[in-house]
Amino acid sequence: MPRHPTAAAGRRLLTMFLAVAVLSVFVFAAAAAAAAEMVEAAVVEDAPSPHILPRPLVIELPTSTSSSLSSPALTSSAEVVDDDVPVEVRCASWRLAGEANNLAPWKSLPPECAAYVRDYLTGVAYRSDLELVAREASAYAHSTAAGDARDAWVFDVDETLLSNLPYYADHGYGLELFDHREFDKWVERGEAPAIPSSLKLYNEVRELGFKTFLLTGRSEGHEGVTVDNLNKQGFHDWDKLILRAPADRKKTATIYKSEKRKEMEEEGYRILGNSGDQWSDLLGFSTSARSFKLPNPMYYIP
Ligand SMILES: [Mg+2]
Repeated sequence: MPRHPTAAAGRRLLTMFLAVAVLSVFVFAAAAAAAAEMVEAAVVEDAPSPHILPRPLVIELPTSTSSSLSSPALTSSAEVVDDDVPVEVRCASWRLAGEANNLAPWKSLPPECAAYVRDYLTGVAYRSDLELVAREASAYAHSTAAGDARDAWVFDVDETLLSNLPYYADHGYGLELFDHREFDKWVERGEAPAIPSSLKLYNEVRELGFKTFLLTGRSEGHEGVTVDNLNKQGFHDWDKLILRAPADRKKTATIYKSEKRKEMEEEGYRILGNSGDQWSDLLGFSTSARSFKLPNPMYYIP
């Protein structure tokens, strides 16, 4: 029996429709898969690699307002107490900074360091430090002396040739503010003992032919008692003792002593060595070829 033409055409149409539908499903699925891959790639690209540091890298430094992180050790005040550092270490740091001229001008030692400074001065350490400075100065003097009568060595007096430790023992070893009147009374007694290592150095540079100039901040009114005190303690035959005249009274020690060294140079002397316990003995102008700083944690003179 012949097929009906209209029914055959309907079946072809249905077959084509199903084919298109199946093809569309495949195309859609492929597109969705591609899109998913792209999204996945983008996510992978953005994810941090375990082998590199995350960016941006921000390092936060402690600020003055972040009290939990502030460190007293980073401040300049010796008054601040850092409980992590023993007081002996803090005071050793303070003393070293003073000797190296790294402290701002200071009027008295930190109260917490009173016992430390007393123990340093009355124990073996101060004497050892003084002896080391004198040994180095002596070695230099021997190596540099020209022996032509122009060589000069400048010595400070207080805490350099003579020691005022007996006075400071009664005044807190630098804990008390300096009292000129009380100190003058002590000076006028003329009982300051020699610093033994300085007396030895003094005699050595004399024997090497150096001119010895004693340059002190003491006033001219104390010349007599100073001469007596020095002689009594074994210092003899210096070439000049220079004391502070009334015109020098308002000058800083640095200026006063520099001016006096300049006069020595103008007189034809070659200042090869200078010994002093204060930086103001050694700095300024017309400075010595070499300077030797003796220890002194008791006071600071600008
Ligand atoms: Mg001195």
